[in-house]
Amino acid sequence: MNTRDYQALDRAHHLHPFTDFKALGEEGSRIITRAEGVYIHDSEGHRILDAMAGLWCVNLGYGRQELVDAATAQLQQLPYYNNFFKTTHPPAVRLAAKLCDLAPAHINHVFFTGSGSEANDTMLRMVRRYWALKGQPQKQWIIARENGYHGSTLAGMSLGGMAPMHDQGGPPVPKIAHVRQPYWFGEGRFGEGGDQDPEAFGRACAEALEAQILELGEQNVAAFLAEPVQGAGGAIIPPASYWPAVKAVLAKYDILLVVDEVICGFGRLGEWFGSVHYDLKPDLMPIAKGLSSGYLPIGGVLVGDRVADTLIEEGGEFFHGFTYSGHPACAAVALKNLELMDAEDIVERVRDDLGPYLARRWAELADHPIVGEARSLGLMGALELIDPETGERFDKALGAGNLCRDICFELGLVMRSVGDTMIISPPLVITRGEIDELVTKARAALDATLADLRQPAAEESIA
Ligand SMILES: *Cc1c(COP(=O)(O)O)cnc(C)c1O
Repeated sequence: MNTRDYQALDRAHHLHPFTDFKALGEEGSRIITRAEGVYIHDSEGHRILDAMAGLWCVNLGYGRQELVDAATAQLQQLPYYNNFFKTTHPPAVRLAAKLCDLAPAHINHVFFTGSGSEANDTMLRMVRRYWALKGQPQKQWIIARENGYHGSTLAGMSLGGMAPMHDQGGPPVPKIAHVRQPYWFGEGRFGEGGDQDPEAFGRACAEALEAQILELGEQNVAAFLAEPVQGAGGAIIPPASYWPAVKAVLAKYDILLVVDEVICGFGRLGEWFGSVHYDLKPDLMPIAKGLSSGYLPIGGVLVGDRVADTLIEEGGEFFHGFTYSGHPACAAVALKNLELMDAEDIVERVRDDLGPYLARRWAELADHPIVGEARSLGLMGALELIDPETGERFDKALGAGNLCRDICFELGLVMRSVGDTMIISPPLVITRGEIDELVTKARAALDATLADLRQPAAEESIA
């Protein structure tokens, strides 16, 4: 089968996630056929630097034989057995122990799921169950954030703060509220009230959380849920003032902290967990993605002692679980993935070498005429596109971000767009030389985007 054959069958039968089916059908999909290291290859023979690590997950890069071998060996030994009904198997037990070893000291239990969305569903049920067991069944509200992402199941969608998702297939799960996000460039510099001091803006976001708690009644609020750095929202790194101020608010009222580590966990920010980078000490941490470097699907919830002890001692049966909770092959691959990260000092390299190197090279892009801000933390980064004529954001109708993303693909780089924010999250095994290539290609793409956006105006003036 050639590219056109695949595109025809794809158009005829395949509904893609987060996709305008009709528009894609008219354009045709790009068919990815193989990959190695930080590069993917398509069916037309293009080799493309994958600066998104798939979907924020292929942290050890493509083509790791050790992970393939771990899956193969486990599939031969025991391809499937469940963890229901008083049974388990060695990979699930060993992975649980390894995760709790890596997690902060107050976290000693894990509940496995098949994905990050299921992890957030699980977390929601655990949090409400916890408070019911504590004699406070009215404590049900979860406060999350606008433009946060927590998955695509009904609970994941409801917890997330993506308005277009809420508008489809609702109504969302009840008793979930959203507060403003600590997105300084979007809402502190260019939002209402404009050009605020970033640290004052960070504190104002924490004040908004406190106001929401008081509005709902502190006795009704079960938990606050947030990503350490928002991923899908646009690689949004909060101002330094934000997390300490949020922690102070949560400490004032008796409210659990849930930190969604699905992207930030497993080395992305230069620590094993984003919570460690920001010193958050969360009560629960949903995990997935980088847990297995995406080789097989697996997620979970790391549960701190406060909640776990109550669920264990007082909870009786917890009526919740998935057929693939702790699937043996997925668990074996995740375990091997973590062992390789350990053995190769991946987390330390991101913190001490690759993260600072990317920060230096990425910041150079801030001098480009269409870049209003270049930010990064660990191996996650963003560029905010602005109109060089006005110094303001581009007219949304121009679709500058999507244009830049498409140009990147043509130039051999996967860089994603969220509105007019360009984001990267490359495999953690990327080399300095590959970071140089990434930055060179990103600059070329910015040049081409600027040229393209100027094109129509130039033609008009000629006419
Ligand atoms: C991707 C993501 C999820 C959902 O994970 P799935 O495996 O796609 O269900 C949840 N939270 C965050 C922060 C994510 O980035």
